[in-house]
Amino acid sequence: MALPRLLVLGTGGTIAGTARSRTGKAYAAGEVALEAMLGEVGALGLEAELVPRPVARIGSQDIGWREWDALHAEIARAEDDPEIAGVIVTHGTDTAEETAFLLDLTLPAGKPVVLVGAMRPSDAVGSDGMRNFANAVRVASDPDSAGRGVLVVMADTVFAAADVRKAATANVDAFRGFPRGPLARVTPSSLDWFAPAHRVGSPARYAWPEALPRVAILTAGACMDEKPVEALLGIGCAGIVLAGMGQGNAPRVVIEALAKAAANGVPVVRSARVDEGMVDRNVEVDDDAHGFVAARALGPAKARILLMVLIANGIRDAARIQAAFDGR
Ligand code: GLU
Repeated sequence: MALPRLLVLGTGGTIAGTARSRTGKAYAAGEVALEAMLGEVGALGLEAELVPRPVARIGSQDIGWREWDALHAEIARAEDDPEIAGVIVTHGTDTAEETAFLLDLTLPAGKPVVLVGAMRPSDAVGSDGMRNFANAVRVASDPDSAGRGVLVVMADTVFAAADVRKAATANVDAFRGFPRGPLARVTPSSLDWFAPAHRVGSPARYAWPEALPRVAILTAGACMDEKPVEALLGIGCAGIVLAGMGQGNAPRVVIEALAKAAANGVPVVRSARVDEGMVDRNVEVDDDAHGFVAARALGPAKARILLMVLIANGIRDAARIQAAFDGR
C-alpha cells in the first residue's frame, strides 16, 4: 500500500535549534535546515512519505505576516491537492498557539494540519524534537485526524488550536488545553482519540485577509493609570485586548479610558492575565454599559488573534465580536 504523503512546512523554532553543547543552556532556534532534519527522521522508518517545504528558519517570536501568509497559502493548496494526505508545520513553541489558532480560524476543517515543536534543541541530551515529530507524523497520517481543525502535538499529547496554550517556559510538557484538555494521546506507535471529530466538513470560518490590523494587548497591573491606553490609541491601535486581573479587571481609570476607546469605535476585549479560566460578561465590569467584549475562554494571545481576524473581516461591532468569542 502507498504510504501517506505529508507536506512538511518548516518555520524553525527549538525543534530545529542547536546548542553545540549537549548539556548547556544557551542555544539558537531555527538553525537546522528542514531537509537535514527530515534526513534524520528518515532513519526512524516512519510510515509516511515526507515532502519538505521550508518557509522560514526563525524563532517563532519573530513570526509575522510574511510567514503566516505563506503557511496559509501552502496549506490551502495542500487541501486541494489529492496527492497530499496531511500537513505538518514545524514551529517554535513561543507562538505556536497564535499561528495554530490563526490558521484554524481561516482554513476549512479538512485534512489533518498539525503544528509540532520541541522544548529542547535537537542536539541536547533528552531532546524531545524527534519524538514529537514522529508523533506528528502519526497524527497527520491518521484519517481520523481530519475534521478537527488545526492540531498541536507536544509531549505525547494532541491539543486543539482553540484550546492550547504554552503554560511553562521550559518543561517538556509545557502545553495545556483550556477549556478542553487533550484531544488525544499519541506515541510513535499509537494514537487514541478521546472524542469524535467535531468539525467534519466545516468550511473556513473567516476569509484570509489582505493584512492584519494593529491590535495590542494591555496587561493590567495594580496602581496603573490610563496613560498606556491613551498611548495605544495614539499609535493607531485598531483594537485593544485587556489582559486584566482576575476575571478581566483593571483599575477604574483604565476601565474608563477603555470605555472611551470603545465608544470611539475601537473594539475592546477583556481577557485575563490569570493563567486559566473564563472571563464572563458583566461580572465586576459592566460590559453592557462600557461597550466591551468578554473574551470568555480565550487568553490574551488568542483573543488578540481572533480580534485581528474579525476586524480584518470588517466585524467591529461589539455584539458581533462577542458572538464570535462566545462561539469560538
Ligand atoms: N523562542 C523560540 C521559538 O519560539 C524557541 C522556543 C521553542 O521553540 O521552544 O521559536
